Amino acid sequence: MFLPEDNKQPPCEEDDEHVIIDDYFLDDDEPGFNVEDEIPARRHDKELAIQRYIKLIRMPETDQIIREQLVAKVCALRIQLNDMNEEAEKTSHLGHTLIRFIETDSPKSVVCDSCEKKSRGLPLTSLFRSSNSGKDMLVCYSCNLHIHQDCLEKPGLRPCPRLDFDKEERFSGCNKSYEAVILKICPEIGMVKQQFKCNDCDGPISFNSCNLCDYDGKYYCQKCHSGDTAVIPARIIHNWDFLPRPVSKKSLLTINYIRSKPILFDILQLNSMLYGFVEELPIIKRMRKELISMAQYARLCRQPFKPKLTISQHLIEESLINCYTIDELCNTVKLQKDLIDVHSSLLCHITKDCESCRGKGFYCELCHDKDDLLFPFASNIASCPQCSVVYHKNCYHRKNRRCTRCKRLEEKNSKLTQESL
Ligand SMILES: [Zn+2]
Ligand SMILES: [Zn+2]
Ligand SMILES: [Zn+2]
Ligand SMILES: [Zn+2]
Ligand SMILES: [Zn+2]
Ligand SMILES: [Zn+2]
Repeated sequence: MFLPEDNKQPPCEEDDEHVIIDDYFLDDDEPGFNVEDEIPARRHDKELAIQRYIKLIRMPETDQIIREQLVAKVCALRIQLNDMNEEAEKTSHLGHTLIRFIETDSPKSVVCDSCEKKSRGLPLTSLFRSSNSGKDMLVCYSCNLHIHQDCLEKPGLRPCPRLDFDKEERFSGCNKSYEAVILKICPEIGMVKQQFKCNDCDGPISFNSCNLCDYDGKYYCQKCHSGDTAVIPARIIHNWDFLPRPVSKKSLLTINYIRSKPILFDILQLNSMLYGFVEELPIIKRMRKELISMAQYARLCRQPFKPKLTISQHLIEESLINCYTIDELCNTVKLQKDLIDVHSSLLCHITKDCESCRGKGFYCELCHDKDDLLFPFASNIASCPQCSVVYHKNCYHRKNRRCTRCKRLEEKNSKLTQESL
């Protein structure tokens, strides 16, 4: 699969029997990272890349030189992840990954989760200081908690929701780690069951001195729930409802975490009706499918001017085709636009600008139109479900969906069996 391209004939010039898309894409069912990809920057993408490289290393058909390169890449990625974790441990309090809150991140002042005093972010120059000063405002990059350095040691610091999710991930070992996300809409159990105690600080609550959190359905004292609002994952997935609702401080951190990690939600599994109900989703899915096929061309292409895949990796991962982050669901219009941008630049590259990618196109065996190159991701093609060879959609239907290649193979096989009798 990793043979240099010039060792192969372009498929359209080969003997008919060998026109098989899979010759080029042995890993057809599992597109993802390839040895030539750049090392991804985000932690989540690094983790995905490691899984993918290990799979490739284990595949018997992987070339030895490529295997060595892949091993080196996995090592580099592991070291980077380790550094990220160590860096995190240094300033870690109850699982939070705290960094100095810099003014340029947000010009508005923020409220300290502990002392509730407002503070502005630090000037950019504070990054050059080697240690934190007591009044520095810190922010957790996992859950967006804001807290003064001096307030860190005060009692009542809420743990980072990362701790709940990391546990889940270790068990499930997958990226769709939404088991720890509450996906029932406001699952209220009642104040009596809560024994009139705040769900966070255990302090006493009564009917007129408490607030209900829309995310977990629990009651909180007014200190632990002061009326912050957030979009609720369960309401988005079940009702396509994006209205922010009141949530406790603890739940707000969890929702921030879900959005920043980001956690992927499999909408086919969770609510398949969304595909019928939300106009953009089937279009987005079709585009993602085409992009998965195009990305395979882009990965094999050695041209330095090939377009960069500037979208999140999970969007072009076959096994995650129904998965979305909360932010993507919140803004499907933007998502669609981003996909269209990548789609059109890849389409232009593969079918027009790049000779080597164009060389991997196919001719329709039914009409033999040598002027019209076909690609598996194009919308005007039909591909045989048995052998994956591609035809013009119209030609294929005119032939009553009879694949000439499969027919030839059948004839050949029956001839062979007759001869052997
Ligand atoms: Zn945190
Ligand atoms: Zn404070
Ligand atoms: Zn409380
Ligand atoms: Zn190319
Ligand atoms: Zn045709
Ligand atoms: Zn066929």
